[in-house]
Amino acid sequence: MNDNYCLFCKIASKEIPSKIIYENEYVLAFLDIFPILEGHTIIIPKNHYNNIEDINEKDLMELLKVVKLLAGHIHKKLDIEGYNILQNNFKAAGQEINHFHIHIIPRMNDDERFKLKIPRQKATESELNRVLKILEF
Ligand SMILES: [Zn+2]
Repeated sequence: MNDNYCLFCKIASKEIPSKIIYENEYVLAFLDIFPILEGHTIIIPKNHYNNIEDINEKDLMELLKVVKLLAGHIHKKLDIEGYNILQNNFKAAGQEINHFHIHIIPRMNDDERFKLKIPRQKATESELNRVLKILEF
C-alpha cells in the first residue's frame, strides 16, 4: 500500500529517521525540520494517501483524534499563544509532499512568521446563487 518513493512513507516506516512525538497503529506525528515556529508538527497516516480525497474514513478519523490530542498537548507544553491547523491539497494550495498530512503550527500574537493575508471581496447575490447552483447536493 505504501509508496516506495514517498518521503513520508519512508518516515512512517522509519527508513528515514524523524523526531517522533507521538505514534500509534495508524498515525505518526513528528517535528517539521523546517518549523515556522518551534514545535511545528506534522501528523501523517501510516498508510499512503495522496490527499483528503483519497484517505479512507477510518484512517482520517484516527488522524483527527491525534490532531486534537496533540493540539492541546503542544499548547500546554510550549509557551505559545495559539496555533494553526493547516492541511493543503494539490500544488495550487501549497501541497509539497503528496502524502496526506496535517500541520500544527504554533503561533505567538506578534510572531510575524506566518501570515494569512487573504484579499476578500463581498460576493453579490447573483454570484453566490450561481456557485450555489453548482455546489448544492
Ligand atoms: Zn506516502
